[in-house]
Amino acid sequence: MKAIAIVPGRPETAGVVDLPEPPTSDGSLLVRTRLIGICGTDVEIAVEGHGTPPPGTEWLVLGHESLGEVEDAPEGSGFSPGDLVAGVVRRPDPLPCPACAADEWDMCRTGGFVERGIKAQHGYGSERFRVDPRFAVRLDPALGDLGVLLEPTSVVAKAWDHVEQIGARAWFEPKVALITGAGPIGLLAALLARQRGLETHVADLVTAGAKPELVANLGAYYHSEPVAELPIEPDVVIECTGVGEVVMDATRLAAPGGVVALAGISHSEDLAEVRLDAMNKALVLGNKTLFGTVNAARRHYDQAAEALAQADPNWLARLITRRLPPEAWATALRKRPEDIKIVVDMAAGA
Ligand SMILES: [Zn+2]
Repeated sequence: MKAIAIVPGRPETAGVVDLPEPPTSDGSLLVRTRLIGICGTDVEIAVEGHGTPPPGTEWLVLGHESLGEVEDAPEGSGFSPGDLVAGVVRRPDPLPCPACAADEWDMCRTGGFVERGIKAQHGYGSERFRVDPRFAVRLDPALGDLGVLLEPTSVVAKAWDHVEQIGARAWFEPKVALITGAGPIGLLAALLARQRGLETHVADLVTAGAKPELVANLGAYYHSEPVAELPIEPDVVIECTGVGEVVMDATRLAAPGGVVALAGISHSEDLAEVRLDAMNKALVLGNKTLFGTVNAARRHYDQAAEALAQADPNWLARLITRRLPPEAWATALRKRPEDIKIVVDMAAGA
C-alpha cells in the first residue's frame, strides 16, 4: 500500500513509498485512511530534520493529523466498520513516567513517549493504518472530511482546558479573549473562544486573503495592528505565533488575573531581545499567568470532537484550502500565502 514518507532533514526524498499492510502490533482497529493534514511540524521534519524514523529504517511515514473509516473492529472494541475516526498522536512512555501512567502523556516528564508520524513510529499517512481502540477517537459522521481537523483542534482544546483550570485558582469570569496568529491553530482557538461566548479578538499581520473574513464570520474581531496597540484588556490570551515580542506585548495587555497560553514556536532566525524585567513586573503586579502548552491528552481529543461537531461545517470547510493526491504531497511543504490547512487525500488515484 501507498504511504507518504520522507527521510527527515532531506526534503528532496519526500515522496510515496510502498509499504506492507499495517502490522497488527499497531492495534486491533483496521482503518481505511481518508485524509492526512499537513502542518508546520511536518515541514520541520522535512526541512530541519526534526522527527525520528522507527528503529531500523531511515524513512518516516508522515501523518499525525489523521482521518479514516474503520474497516475492521474486534467485538467489544466499541467501534464498528464505517465509523469515522482519527488517531491520537502520542503514545505513553513505556516506563511509564507518572504523568503518562495517569493517561496524561501530553504532560510526559521523561520525553520517553513516541509519536506517530513524528517520533520513532510511522504516522497514519498510509492507505490503511491500524490503531488501538484506546488511541482512536470517534467523530460525528456528519463531519465527514472535516474530521481531519481533530488533531489541531485537540491542541487548542488542551490550551483552553488548562486556561480554565489555571483561571479557577481565584475568581475568574473571562469575557474577552485575544488570539495572536491566525493560522489553523489560531483560527481553531478563536472558534473555541466563541463557543465559550467570549468577545474574541484575533491579531495577525495579514490584511488580505481568507483570514479576516473567517474571523469576522465567527463573530470575532480581526486586527492587523501591533498587539501592543490593541484597545482591549483580554482575560485570556492564546498565543500562537511564538514571537517573543508578541508574547511580551500580549502578556502586558492581559487583564489583571489574566491567563496567557503559549501554544506557538517561532522559527525566525532573528531572535528578538525581550525586556524580561518589564514582563516580570507585569506578571507579578497583575497576578498574571504565562504557561506553555503542547500536544493533548485523550480527554482533549474528546473535547475537540465535541467542539467540531458543534461548529458550522461551512466555516470549517473554508479552513481546508488545498487538497493533494499522495504523489503531490511534497508540494505541501511550500506553503502559499493563501494556504490555511493543506490535506492529502490518501484515497485519490487509488
Ligand atoms: Zn511520560
